[in-house]
Amino acid sequence: MLRFAPSPTGDMHIGNLRVAIFNYIVAKQKGEKYLIRIEDTDKQRNIEGKDKEILEILNLFGIEYDEVVYQSNNFHLHREMANKLLKEKKAFACFCSEEDIKFEREKAKIEKRPYRYSGKCEYLDEKTLRKYIAENKEYVVRIKKPENNIKFNDLIKGEMEFSPFEVDSFIILRADKTPTYNFACAIDDMIYDISLVIRGEDHLSNTPKQIHIRKLLGYDKEIEYAHLPIILNEEGKKMSKRDNASSVKWLLNEGFLPEAIANYLILLGNSFEKEIFTLEEAIDFFDLTKISKAPAKFDIEKLKFINKEHLKKINNLSKILGVNEIYEDLLKILRDESSTLKEIKEKFDKIFQRSGDEEFKNERDILKEEILNSELEENYDDFKKRLMKNTSLKGKKLFMPLRELLINEKHGPEIKDLYDTMKPYLKEIIKRR
Ligand code: GLU
Repeated sequence: MLRFAPSPTGDMHIGNLRVAIFNYIVAKQKGEKYLIRIEDTDKQRNIEGKDKEILEILNLFGIEYDEVVYQSNNFHLHREMANKLLKEKKAFACFCSEEDIKFEREKAKIEKRPYRYSGKCEYLDEKTLRKYIAENKEYVVRIKKPENNIKFNDLIKGEMEFSPFEVDSFIILRADKTPTYNFACAIDDMIYDISLVIRGEDHLSNTPKQIHIRKLLGYDKEIEYAHLPIILNEEGKKMSKRDNASSVKWLLNEGFLPEAIANYLILLGNSFEKEIFTLEEAIDFFDLTKISKAPAKFDIEKLKFINKEHLKKINNLSKILGVNEIYEDLLKILRDESSTLKEIKEKFDKIFQRSGDEEFKNERDILKEEILNSELEENYDDFKKRLMKNTSLKGKKLFMPLRELLINEKHGPEIKDLYDTMKPYLKEIIKRR
């Protein structure tokens, strides 16, 4: 089984969506099930409704899954496993206060070395231990660090190796007895029989911890890992919440199509024979092991290009944009000049607004009167000839104000195309100018 394990703590980041897409594709390629696991272990950071939003986004992108589980439903199992490790002395109760730990962290910082747990509570004598328990002294549970290096083969990054020092004796149960991310994740990947974990490379240092947990629990099935290189913004820095384009919701609001965003994210860090494809098509040629090891740079211009290509395939723009279907052909003309749904809609809305532009005002008034007071010709050439003859306008002074009368823009699509498409409602629109 493969899994996508989002935390309901914020808007979906494109990096997460990319992880969800890759897991979906690989699950399909391997013929395995796909689990969505909402990682809601950190109560303080959970945001109400974000879980539903994540599932809605997956649906919108056509990412099908077999099951949704909430990690908090397994708290009792996480606790059980922590107790098992405590009993077997593979984990220990740690009574160090938050201030103690803070102090040690600061000390490590001053001494310019990475902070690691001091080991103070690992060897507490029985008497002290019993005393603390009798006093109801608060404690967390820490797993004992491994004795040997932890190695694993990453499908993208190759052989990885971490020392016991890097793994450290880390916390698995908080003082309120909720599991930490690493503990809940390691156990759930085991419970749901996950075969391959595909996730962002920001989790690389968590992997030896999760492998260590499962080893101590006696789980010997090996889970494969693939850590995806991070996505950089246009300045070459890690794409963060501050970059608008990192939010899937923002991209959708900007008028990028789900199929184009998915296409772009699959292409990012890859090279295929063709650039424009659907998620389903990618199942045939996507190869997880061929992803570039180098970080991928987000390029909104490339996304716009891909979006434009996907826009061309759409036949019901009026429905998508919530516009009367008599305007479908007009929307298609506007589409050829746009990269996103939002741009099409802006151009469309502008047609129904008044023009405040002083330039060509006179010419517009002359043309408006001429057009409104006669029957429209079937043929654009005849229409044009009449306008030229009756108004004596020509060249720029004819075409710019005429295009303005039609779509409220001096430049844009061919007037002939606009005329042919807009004829049935052309006078209605011109009356408003
Ligand atoms: N909840 C983690 C995240 O959203 C999941 C990491 C993982 O896939 O294990 O980053």
